[in-house]
Amino acid sequence: MLAVSRGYRKPFKACTKCRLLVPHEAPTCPSCGSTTFTDVWSGVVIIVDPEKSKLAKMLGIEKPGRYALKLGL
Ligand SMILES: [Zn+2]
Repeated sequence: MLAVSRGYRKPFKACTKCRLLVPHEAPTCPSCGSTTFTDVWSGVVIIVDPEKSKLAKMLGIEKPGRYALKLGL
């Protein structure tokens, strides 16, 4: 078995509008309704309480969930 990180398919795609990580089979983003996603993302941020999270404010996240820290390459 070879572990090649380049060919690894991430279990989630990231919404390009709000960064929410959603399963590949989801047709639309459950958070913002966008249909534009990217497989190229890195870092995962789990926001539990956007009201109290400085990181959530920094990233412009208003709803709890799992988000990509960085989109694109
Ligand atoms: Zn979204």
